Amino acid sequence: MEWTWESLRAQMEGCTRCPLCERRQHIVFGEGNPQAKVLLVGEGPGEVEDKEGRPFVGPAGQLLDRMLASIGLDRNGVYIANIVKCRPPQNRVPLPQEVEACLPFLRAQVRLLRPAIIVALGGTAAKVILHDEDLRITRERGRWHSVKGVELLATYHPSFLLRSPERKREAWEDLKALRARMELMGLLEPPEAEGV
Ligand code: SF4
Repeated sequence: MEWTWESLRAQMEGCTRCPLCERRQHIVFGEGNPQAKVLLVGEGPGEVEDKEGRPFVGPAGQLLDRMLASIGLDRNGVYIANIVKCRPPQNRVPLPQEVEACLPFLRAQVRLLRPAIIVALGGTAAKVILHDEDLRITRERGRWHSVKGVELLATYHPSFLLRSPERKREAWEDLKALRARMELMGLLEPPEAEGV
């Protein structure tokens, strides 16, 4: 099926494909720039996200904003989505059947966006996108992969960084690598000429 952003959102709004629909307050569709070349993928909505229907708006989202700003990006320059669109109870990791049920939505988002780079935020997103159930994010972070012609970088989820601030230095390395890859791929606006 050929989706548009509007038809995809309409389909998702009424979704009952998995039991996560039962307790949700809001679907968290994803947001950002539909022309963005960088897609950030997290795990799933938390409490604040479920309440507001927007991705990464709680404390982890504030950290994500600071992380993006540290490399000169903001939410207008990327697109942000999650593996599952409804909040798992007590913020547990989504179950395999929930991931399986929800993945067609993320695949449709990828087809619409056609990103050049996907950044997997955290182990759950990296495991799903790289099809590696045994993946350990502490080992995998900072490594680049190519998945169907899309560059993929895994790094830590901001929630994890809030719990383990000693890992922020590694995340900073990953962000710098992201910035460098974007420059290499010509995905950043050239700096404005001075004195013109
Ligand atoms: S998590 Fe995904 S598959 Fe499950 S109900 Fe929500 S939108 Fe549907």
